[in-house]
Amino acid sequence: METNIQPILDKALDGERLTADDCTALLESNDFVRIGLAAHEIRMRKNPTDVVTYIIDRNINYTNVCNVVCTFCAFYRRPGKPDTYIHSIEEIEKRIDETIELGGTGVLMQGGLHPDMNIEWYEDLLRTLHAKYPTFQLHCFSPPEIHNISLISGLDYETILRRLKAAGLNSMPGGGGEILDDEVRRRVSTKCTTDEWLDVMRAVHKVGLISTGTMMFGIGDKIEHRVRHLERIRQVQDEALDAKASDPDYGEFTAFIPWTFQRENTALGRKITEEPTGIDYLKMLSVSRLFLDNIQHIQSSWLTQGIRLGQSALRFGADDMGSIMIEENVVSAAGANNEANERDLRYQISEAGFIPQQRDILYNYVNREDATGLDTRNSMPLKQLSVAFAD
Ligand code: SF4
Repeated sequence: METNIQPILDKALDGERLTADDCTALLESNDFVRIGLAAHEIRMRKNPTDVVTYIIDRNINYTNVCNVVCTFCAFYRRPGKPDTYIHSIEEIEKRIDETIELGGTGVLMQGGLHPDMNIEWYEDLLRTLHAKYPTFQLHCFSPPEIHNISLISGLDYETILRRLKAAGLNSMPGGGGEILDDEVRRRVSTKCTTDEWLDVMRAVHKVGLISTGTMMFGIGDKIEHRVRHLERIRQVQDEALDAKASDPDYGEFTAFIPWTFQRENTALGRKITEEPTGIDYLKMLSVSRLFLDNIQHIQSSWLTQGIRLGQSALRFGADDMGSIMIEENVVSAAGANNEANERDLRYQISEAGFIPQQRDILYNYVNREDATGLDTRNSMPLKQLSVAFAD
């Protein structure tokens, strides 16, 4: 018999922290609409505005050479294979110029785990870009990349991150999180362990950088693994916020972004028989909002889920639509071919009853004159929309 989840939702709505058992009961429940309603209520309390933010940036994958094997990845190429690449600085600058042309404020730069790139390569890259584009935000690398630099250079995470920050790094995406539980990770990847991923994030926050938490589920994980993943993210955020109470320069997770495994062209995709549905995605998103009571923003992942499900996420606890993603190579290699320009994204946000607002990586609002009028098809908040429909 299914657990009555209302007392758990009431607990969250009363501001009490949910336990792992509560989280399990919610994820096991079929009552996803009720969970979504509670998640939306908490979203509106945490971010009390009809605004839904989005960012204009671009994923630049500086290399596809990767020294480890992840069976869920369709992007990497083994060192020495003919179709490998490393972008030159000029190629990266060209992509940044195009991003700025489109109103972009930053870049998300990540790559495979190249066996020969030492810390100086990353420092040179950041220093060059920061000197040429001093206000353009460099949201780069991921815990597995930092762990890889550590293996190559012999330096500890904190030293690496202090050096990268000094060279111009603004923040770090939460890539490579997948499922933070070694029972699952070991089966699908030879990259860094759960503890290593979390320790890199602890060091990121310690050196005063912000980051995001992510989850890619549907890679053979069960509910218990997803719960443990959320617990670990919440724990690291608790530590960051405790430290921040006495040191305002401490970093933290600004957002959490769950999405489902994209299976095309991957070795794992040929094996997996059970895929999360759209409802599983919305429920995961809502439960993240309820369980991660210490994270401000929950992001919709329209790029992987499709624009309509991405839009629905805005009523299930998400307050941010993520990026218009001018370029993306990793999940698109695995079959996520969803596309949207700024106009589309603003329209989807408006149609869901919210006010679209561009932001930067730090969640500062960005107001561009050329964005005005991009959502002219419909920009009324929901209350006004209902009146319009009633008329
Ligand atoms: S997911 Fe990242 S670390 Fe894993 S194989 Fe792909 S590029 Fe390499």
